[in-house]
Amino acid sequence: MEVFKNYEKLQKHLNPKESIGFVPTMGALHQGHLSLIKESIKHHQQTVVSIFVNPTQFDDTGDLDRYPRTLEKDLAQLASLNQNLWVYAPLVSEIYGPAPPVTNPYDFGALTQTMEGLSRAHHFQGVATVVEKLFRKVNPQSAYFGEKDFQQIRIIETLVAQKNLNIEIVRCPIVREVDGLAMSSRNTLLSPEERSQAPLLHTTLCAAKAQFLRQQSIDTIKQNVHEIYEKAPLFSLDYFNICDENRLQDIKNYPAPQARGFLAAKLGKIRLIDNMPF
Ligand code: AMP
Repeated sequence: MEVFKNYEKLQKHLNPKESIGFVPTMGALHQGHLSLIKESIKHHQQTVVSIFVNPTQFDDTGDLDRYPRTLEKDLAQLASLNQNLWVYAPLVSEIYGPAPPVTNPYDFGALTQTMEGLSRAHHFQGVATVVEKLFRKVNPQSAYFGEKDFQQIRIIETLVAQKNLNIEIVRCPIVREVDGLAMSSRNTLLSPEERSQAPLLHTTLCAAKAQFLRQQSIDTIKQNVHEIYEKAPLFSLDYFNICDENRLQDIKNYPAPQARGFLAAKLGKIRLIDNMPF
């Protein structure tokens, strides 16, 4: 495994005749990230992992400043995985030049007018901007994304279709801690008390799913979720939605094939998200 700040230098080490799997990350790697990387290694002769905390996808500068940066530890985790693994860890200037762009060039329609798109106004513009730049540099056959960020996957799938990029987007399941908490780089920022309460997101989704499978009214399920968070003082619920997996539009009635529950809440200062197929 070798690490590069400059993509042209990295590219010299890649064999153009061998396939490339690509895993974009913001670092502070955990088993969730590693599951994507292992999946790529399984299917491709070469794997490129990017580690880049992308400033344009953060609306909240506090969140950007706090975001954990643990490059040495990340590299140590990757070192033993595979010989043909390349880490691309650019500086902001390598990706954006002297100043990151302030334009919003993408139109993902209704996909961005819900959930994370509403709560974080420029988030998906920033995600799409960096992912398109990285895709055009790395030019992989496949790129691996976690269902932890399910709305993001739908945005990337749409980006690839809109830009006619010949890249397979591979969805990978959510990796969880033993207590159900979805792994996330932000979990390390939780205080011990917050960490002990954090599995509530997963428990809530499980309870809501059970009610959904019994075909309780969607309004009642939502009300039950809101009541749970009213009684949990460390949390501030941002949204709980039941949406169809393709268009991410709210489901109001049964039958509801391809439904998924989505939840976002702040726990202290840290914003957590989770989702689950219903
Ligand atoms: P991030 O570093 O948070 O931008 O995440 C990089 C990639 O890892 C994204 O595709 C995420 O969806 C994925 N990922 C993050 N956490 C998990 C998890 N717990 N399970 C599976 N994939 C994850």
